[in-house]
Parts: sequence; structure tokens; C-alpha cells
Amino acid sequence: MTRDGQQTVGKAHLYPLRFDPIYQYRLWGGRRLSGLLSAPLPGDGPVGEAWVLSDRTDHQSLVANGPLKGQALGQVMEQFREQLMGKLSSRFRRFPLLLKFLDAHEMLSVQVHPSDAHPDLIPVGDTAKTEAWVVIEAAKGSHIYAGLKSGTTAGSLRQSLGDGTIADHLLSIVPKPGDAVFIPAGTVHTLGNDVVVFEIQQNSDVTFRLYDWGHIDPETKELRPLQMDQAFACIKFGASDCGLAEPRVEITTPVERERLFDCHVFVLWRLLGKNLFTVGAAAEPRVLVGIEGSGQIMHDGTPYAVGKGDIWLLPAEAGECAFQSSGEVTLLEIAIP
Ligand SMILES: [Zn+2]
Repeated sequence: MTRDGQQTVGKAHLYPLRFDPIYQYRLWGGRRLSGLLSAPLPGDGPVGEAWVLSDRTDHQSLVANGPLKGQALGQVMEQFREQLMGKLSSRFRRFPLLLKFLDAHEMLSVQVHPSDAHPDLIPVGDTAKTEAWVVIEAAKGSHIYAGLKSGTTAGSLRQSLGDGTIADHLLSIVPKPGDAVFIPAGTVHTLGNDVVVFEIQQNSDVTFRLYDWGHIDPETKELRPLQMDQAFACIKFGASDCGLAEPRVEITTPVERERLFDCHVFVLWRLLGKNLFTVGAAAEPRVLVGIEGSGQIMHDGTPYAVGKGDIWLLPAEAGECAFQSSGEVTLLEIAIP
């Protein structure tokens, strides 16, 4: 593909893309995402998830700015894959990450996602699912469970499901804002009691429920179904690197850049800074997430405003961009390894 002929849409230059959130009703959700995201919450029921970057057939993120406004992420991937994905363009037909904010007012079901070791449990077109959380808000009584206590066996776990003592087998974290929690595929996990997190995960919707705390779905008036056999097949018993991640400070000037997660499917840094610093990278896409404060991405002489809860996809061809903050700012920056 040549880079001349910029009049034709397919070869036009890409610019930083902002996406509107897709809100999802969840029985365990709340209304706290209204304080985090600028797009108003629908209705007055519980909203558990805001999908802020999604290339899923059923829920496509739509571009919210510029000439491509209204286009689905999947369309952008199709028409501009090289400009968007750069050196990764031959590896991915759809965007490989799914990004969300979760408001877990109640406990989510205790669940597990499959790894690549279980292709038989992954529907065609989906993938394994490793995920991670960055805690945004937590309350007294908030809880995260990530992983099994050592010594837990399939037998003892199965027995605990029967007598409602599963929590006794789970590694427990009392979350506070800023905590980073890694959930590799195969980890038994859940969270809730008024915790709000940013969630990064592989672009997959495969979840197996192990236990649901007796929740009744108000829509069906019934217990939600469990998928015990699939869940037990996926669970990784024994040692794991799940749980609280230790941030690694890479640089402290002109911005403090801490690496929170570095796994085979995503790398995520937290940036704490003020004034002028650099975001993005040559020949690969990056995602920026506004967590606190505000500022602007400068690209091609144009400013793109970044506020709390905003998601920006920096296309590969934008490369490194200057970020001008207005005072102290906290951002997340995400790369695909
Ligand atoms: Zn999960």
C-alpha cells in the first residue's frame, strides 16, 4: 500500500481516536461510573460495566471525534489496519484487547477464564482471557479475591461450593485506590462491595461461573446458571503469579512511569506527571486512559483533550506524541507486546 493519494479514505492519515463508553446493565452493578465518565449513565438501574474500547461483534466501540466519528473500531481495523496497528498489523484482524471500567456494588460471581491450554473450551473466534485490574475507588468492606490459598485441591474446592465456604479457600485483598491486580487465565477470582476498577483483558467473553453467592437475577427471578465442569477444567491449582502486582518505576523524569503489568498479552504503565512529557510509540498502537487530572495530546499541531475516564487510541502512525498536562495528571498507557 502506498502512502500517496490521501484523498481516498483508505489511505488517509489516522489521528488520535476517542471512543464513547458502552454501558452494560449488571445485577451486581451500581451508579458510581457516573462520577468517572462524562457520558451520562442510562436509566436508573444498576450499571456494572462501561466497555470503553471494544472490537466485539455484539458491542462495537464507536469513534467519537474527527472525520471518522461514528465508525466502529472493527471498521477502522479493517480499513486502516496498517496505519492503526503498525508492526502488529499482520498479527491481528481485530483489536486484541477489551477495556472496561467496572462498578462492582455487590460481589460478582466467583469465576474463571480459560487459558490457551483449553482450546476446546474457547468458542471459535474467541481467545483465552488473561485480565488485570487497577483499583480506582474502594470502600470499607470492598473485597477482591484472586487465586486459591495453597493446599486447595479440586476436592476441597468442590466441597466448599456445597457448604458455601468458598471464600475460605480464596486469597483475599482489601483493595485501595491505585492497587494493581493481575488475573492470569485459570485464576479463580471475583470482586465487589463497592469497588470500582479499570479492567484490561484479552478480547474475549468466555467466563465460567463457579459460585454466585445466592444472587437472584431480578429479570428472570432465578439463580444465574453456573458452569462448574468447564470452570474446574480451567482452574490452575498450585502456585501462580496472580494477585497484587509490584509497580516498577522505570523513569521519574519528565514523568514518573511505573510498569504495573507486563505479560504476554499486554503491558500497562501508570504515568504520574505534570508539564510536558511523551506518550505513544513509533510503529505500534498505544491506548491512553485518563485517571486523574487533565491535559492534552498534541498531534500534527492539534490538541486532543484528555480528562478523567477518557480513552484515547493512539494509532501506530501517530508515533510519539507530546502530552501537555494542566497540573498533576495520572494516566494509564497500554501497549500490545
Ligand atoms: Zn474475570
